Amino acid sequence: MSKRDYYDILGVARSADEKEIKSAYRKLAIKYHPDKNPGDHEAEEKFKEAAEAYDILSNSQKRQRYDQFGHAGNSASGGYGGGGGMNMDDIFSQFGDIFGGGHPFESFFGGGGGGQRGGRRVARGSNLRIKVKLTLEEIAKGVEKKVKVNKQVSCHSCEGTGAKDKSSFHTCKTCGGSGSVRRVTNTILGQMQTTSTCPTCNGEGVEITAKCTTCRGEGLERGEETIAINIPAGVSEGMQLSMSGKGNAAPRGGIPGDLIILIEEVPHESLKRDGLNVIYDLYINFVDATLGTSVEVPTIDGKAKIKIEPGTQGGKILRLKGKGIPEVNSYHKGDQLVYVNIWTPKAVSNEEKELLNKLKESPNFKPQPGKSEKSFFERIKEYFE
Ligand SMILES: [Zn+2]
Ligand SMILES: [Zn+2]
Repeated sequence: MSKRDYYDILGVARSADEKEIKSAYRKLAIKYHPDKNPGDHEAEEKFKEAAEAYDILSNSQKRQRYDQFGHAGNSASGGYGGGGGMNMDDIFSQFGDIFGGGHPFESFFGGGGGGQRGGRRVARGSNLRIKVKLTLEEIAKGVEKKVKVNKQVSCHSCEGTGAKDKSSFHTCKTCGGSGSVRRVTNTILGQMQTTSTCPTCNGEGVEITAKCTTCRGEGLERGEETIAINIPAGVSEGMQLSMSGKGNAAPRGGIPGDLIILIEEVPHESLKRDGLNVIYDLYINFVDATLGTSVEVPTIDGKAKIKIEPGTQGGKILRLKGKGIPEVNSYHKGDQLVYVNIWTPKAVSNEEKELLNKLKESPNFKPQPGKSEKSFFERIKEYFE
């Protein structure tokens, strides 16, 4: 499942600009073009690989996501995070943009795109979408989730071929199994060769004379699969991961679709996530704030003891370095921020009232903020650093 780096594929630096990317791709597209390398499977793969790399790196949004999250970053709609890749139609439709209309390249290769360009048409299974709920602890450490998925699998009776038995499964006579037919026409410019989908087998390359009775020739049936999903640390609500080939099976031996995993966060009972940071609201009474104390606070990694200095003001933010959420595919980690609130009693007894009124008269209880107190704005600034 490991894919090559898009920058390596195009042979450009990570800092390459739009023009360099375009020119690198143009060279590769010409070199590996299927019309120049007929029947060369390796060239076709290189051609597709380059097209995919260009598709991602030429789009600033997709490129940014790729730089940040790697191949997983573009796994949602329109991306190739799990593999799959682009089909030829997509690639050729991209060419107008690369070579410009009327560019010699177009006439050289006989018009860019549309339709099926040789090769068997391979059916593709649909993508399957599931939601996975994760606790903050699971997000912080990464987790393997085993999920039972209801999906279309290959029919067990016909092994997905759709044919009743071996004798009812033949290579298509019209196209000889290639899925396409070539036609030569005479034009004023000379002979032109066009390729189109085989009408007999619809491009599948095979003919089925008797259908499998279990799946009625579709090659599919409903089934269940338990899939182990490796979720990297640092994912967040709404993020989508994709697993290549784990979606619905394709009819008649095609390529299965992808499994798209939508991440949902389960709220933590006392910690709040803010990007890579984790926030905890601590409440202490003003006696502890005045005299200082030591308290235990929850973290995503168990409890931590923190010291409250004598004379701590409400609104102080204490930072537990590295106790936050890691960034996906990175060593960078957020912090836990402990926000100190001073608890003001909401009701008091007569006895307490008397004591408080005595304290009130003491000169130390008169608010006298000095230079050592950080302003609200300074604290906010510090928080975002
Ligand atoms: Zn055919
Ligand atoms: Zn079947």
